[in-house]
Parts: sequence; C-alpha cells; structure tokens
Amino acid sequence: MSDSSIVCPENLTQEQQDLFWMNRAQELAIKAEEIGEVPVGALIVLDRQLIAEGYNQPISQHDPTAHAEVIALRAAGEKIGNYRLLETTLYVTLEPCPMCASAMVHARVKRLVFGAFDQKTGAAGTVFDITRSEKLNHKVDVLGGVKEQQCREQLSAFFRQRREFHKQNKRNKES
Ligand SMILES: [Zn+2]
Repeated sequence: MSDSSIVCPENLTQEQQDLFWMNRAQELAIKAEEIGEVPVGALIVLDRQLIAEGYNQPISQHDPTAHAEVIALRAAGEKIGNYRLLETTLYVTLEPCPMCASAMVHARVKRLVFGAFDQKTGAAGTVFDITRSEKLNHKVDVLGGVKEQQCREQLSAFFRQRREFHKQNKRNKES
C-alpha cells in the first residue's frame, strides 16, 4: 500500500524534511476524505525513507481502530518484520488520540510529528500526554503544529461540508 520508493532528499534540514513528509501526509488525508472518512493521513519514515502509510478508514472498514496511525503502524511492522519500530518517525496530520498515542509507545516510535492540535482528544500533550508520560516505559519525541493551519483547515472544511450536507438532507426530507 505504501510507495516506499519515496525518499526525502538528503540535503534538507530537519524542518524541511518535516514539511516534505507532512505534505505527503496531507495527500493521504485527502484519500480518506474521498471515501467519506474524516481526513487524517499518517506515514512512517525510517532513514529518510517512507516505509508505511495510512489514512483514516474506521467507517469503511467497520473497524473502530482503523485510524490512520494504526494502519501505518501495522504496515510498518509488516514491512520491517518487527513489532518494534525503533528509530522511526511517524507523521500525522492531526494530533493522535489516546489509542494511537499508546500504540506508538508500544511500537517504540522514536519521534512523532503532527499537524493540527486536537482540543478534544489529543493525547500528545493537548488533552492527555501519553507520548511523554513518566508512568510509561517509553517516551516519544513530539513536535506538534507542523503545517498546523493547513491541517486544521483541511479538517474544518470537511466538518463544515458535512454539516451543510446534513442540513440539506434534513431540508429535503421536510419539503
Ligand atoms: Zn487515533
């Protein structure tokens, strides 16, 4: 499912690399949106190389755990033949929920980079901090807010459209 031929150019700074991969994650979020899912995209990078990607699909898969990050983590484990994803960086357009943040701790993901902050269920510092909890045996380095505005707008446009759609539906039923 992932296109592992994608490699980040060598001469980029860390900041440029983060933007490079976040652009890709946003493209994956669009794939989720195209099938009617909340637009969230995630991917995993090891040594500047894409090893796995995923986008949100709990509704279409009838799977409450099919968040973009979980799909990417599963694919990455399969790809490298190990349930520990040491030295990897996970990019995701929205701050992970508690389930996904916890899965990253289990996987020993080294670094998490996310776009929009999630004021409702964000578990990488906003509502909970599972990624840097003293009570857990692994901490993930976290950088939030990369392309924050674009990622946030991608989500709010989706929810705005969905509200409009439901309103329109209701009107159609009433008339
Ligand atoms: Zn999640």
